[in-house]
Amino acid sequence: MKYLDDDRDIRFNLFEWLDLDTVLNAPRFQEIDREQLGMVLEEALKVAQGSVSACNEEGDRVGARFENGEVKLPAGFAGAYRDLASGGWISPTMDPAFGGMGLPESVGTGISEFLMGANTAMGLQILLTRGAAHLIETFGSEDLKASFCERMYSGEWTGTMCLTEAGAGSDLGALTTKALRQEDGSYLVSGEKIFITSGDHDLTPNVIHAVLARTPGAPAGPKGLSLFVVPKVRVNPDGSLGGPNDVACAGIEHKLGIHGSPTCSLVFGANGGSQGFLLGREEQGLAHMFQMMNAARWEVGVQGLSNASAAHQAALAYARERLQGRGPGAGKGAGQSLILEHPDVRRSLLLQSAYVQAMRALVSYTAWCMDMAQVTEGVEHDRWQGLVELFTPISKAWCSDWGFRVTEWALQVFGGYGYTMDYPAEQYLRDCKIASIYEGTNGIQALDLVGRKFRMQDGRPVKDLLRLAGDTAQSLGVDPVLGASARQLAEAVKVLGAVLTELPARGNATLLMLLNAVPILDMLGHVVGGHLLLQQAQLAQQKALALMAERGVDPNNPGAVRVLQSSSRDAAFYQNKVQAAIHFAHRGLPLVAAQAVALLSGETAPMDAVF
Ligand SMILES: Cc1cc2nc3c(=O)[nH]c(=O)nc-3n(C[C@H](O)[C@H](O)[C@H](O)COP(=O)(O)OP(=O)(O)OC[C@H]3O[C@@H](n4cnc5c(N)ncnc54)[C@H](O)[C@@H]3O)c2cc1C
Repeated sequence: MKYLDDDRDIRFNLFEWLDLDTVLNAPRFQEIDREQLGMVLEEALKVAQGSVSACNEEGDRVGARFENGEVKLPAGFAGAYRDLASGGWISPTMDPAFGGMGLPESVGTGISEFLMGANTAMGLQILLTRGAAHLIETFGSEDLKASFCERMYSGEWTGTMCLTEAGAGSDLGALTTKALRQEDGSYLVSGEKIFITSGDHDLTPNVIHAVLARTPGAPAGPKGLSLFVVPKVRVNPDGSLGGPNDVACAGIEHKLGIHGSPTCSLVFGANGGSQGFLLGREEQGLAHMFQMMNAARWEVGVQGLSNASAAHQAALAYARERLQGRGPGAGKGAGQSLILEHPDVRRSLLLQSAYVQAMRALVSYTAWCMDMAQVTEGVEHDRWQGLVELFTPISKAWCSDWGFRVTEWALQVFGGYGYTMDYPAEQYLRDCKIASIYEGTNGIQALDLVGRKFRMQDGRPVKDLLRLAGDTAQSLGVDPVLGASARQLAEAVKVLGAVLTELPARGNATLLMLLNAVPILDMLGHVVGGHLLLQQAQLAQQKALALMAERGVDPNNPGAVRVLQSSSRDAAFYQNKVQAAIHFAHRGLPLVAAQAVALLSGETAPMDAVF
């Protein structure tokens, strides 16, 4: 089935809601205007709905295969990858000096959503290539940059992130892969990495690995790690390909979803010849690698959003054509109604839409903060960067957890057909599940949030965020349409504030924070979601009124307003934006208060349970 996008909401976020002008007026983005960005999105959607989406089902059904020591991708992937590479879609936000398009992250989010939603396996391939090349661009010598960056940003070669080993998953300090410095300044890398996304494939002649390894005598734990670039095939000084670099794929995983994405076990240096090059400084490898991990974490949040949005759009399309039973408004003797008429189906559809919109607002706002951090300096830069760092684990974990739930609700709309492979819902659900696991499990994201992100800059980013959410609630408190929703937000901000003040002051604070990190992240995700959605709803109300004035429709005449909403895509969109915010505020935000009750009770039964 063709990928069904939500282009309208992506454009609302980018062109109507975010302060794009401040970003575009900065010298860095001066050459770019709104019209160009609109065309870029249009082209990205074309390629997503074209060859990228066309091989999504094949990717799932055929999957990556491991044959005679080589990884083969499904046939359609080669053409789709060629389209992505030739269109510049591997590196839309990267530096033009190395072949990128130099676009703001705010628009990069929309592009990523289209590609991830159309084909998650393919989206992962380009995400990792971009991230590995960016490591080389930031930390590599001039020679390394010249050898690799442009060829990776252009898609000629792909990239990977090689962290995980059999005994070292969440605990990167336990990594054992070794790197031995050679007389010529290069290193011999040896060890086994597992679960490496796109670690090998037949799309490109070379794969460039970013590898964490330990040099002799380096301290144990995460502080002893260094970062290396290790190509699959050696590269000669003139840029041509040399011989193999002793990097072997030992097999691929058979897994629940993303079947088109090969998850590889890689053996480095089994024959003593895996040549690597240091990126940055020895024993600073993990700090350097965090550049790629943070970008990937945010993009995994985009994945959760993309899978959820695509599943929701598919469910909506199905509900618009499936006849079953009779809706409450159907007269006597009427035939079957569309399932869209049933209140329970409508509830599910709007809840899906509300969470999808909240996720999109969160990742879009985070991307905009990244842009603001790039175009500002000093205290202002620190403020935007602080928000980016705070939002990174929330985007990753909240969007992947709720994204997965949305795919489940969407599947339910299809009834029995949702459980079959005739419809795409089950693939979206399976593809989405991994997002809560890789790039640091969501449990680890929550520990990062409460352990590090709450404390950075003396706790200012989280305080700023709660203040901003409180301001939104207060400013809308008397709004006739959004007032009750704003009061739900005010209550959620209040109880979350109480949790964040009271738990750390208790005698067993450390245990309480470790035990409750996941619910705390979830509460904060809901508060941010509610805050951003209400801001958007306020804007949507203003836009709807302007549209009515333009069309000569009296806003106090419900019949005339309904006619406008049924004939104007924009009027319907703004109406749904307001309804989604109201629904989220009444169905999502009360979960914050419920969790606050549980956390403030101080209950620690899991520690006393006998497992
Ligand atoms: C499809 C797929 C693709 C992947 N791609 C890559 C890749 O490209 N590159 C790469 O390097 N890795 C990759 N990974 C590995 C992935 O990042 C790890 O699986 C993940 O970080 C978890 O590690 P683990 O599987 O060893 O689980 P473990 O670390 O054993 O964790 C098991 C459980 O214990 C919890 N846990 C562990 N430690 C703690 C703690 N300190 N506190 C609280 N809870 C804890 C975890 O949250 C989890 O629920 C991939 C994995 C998969 C399945």
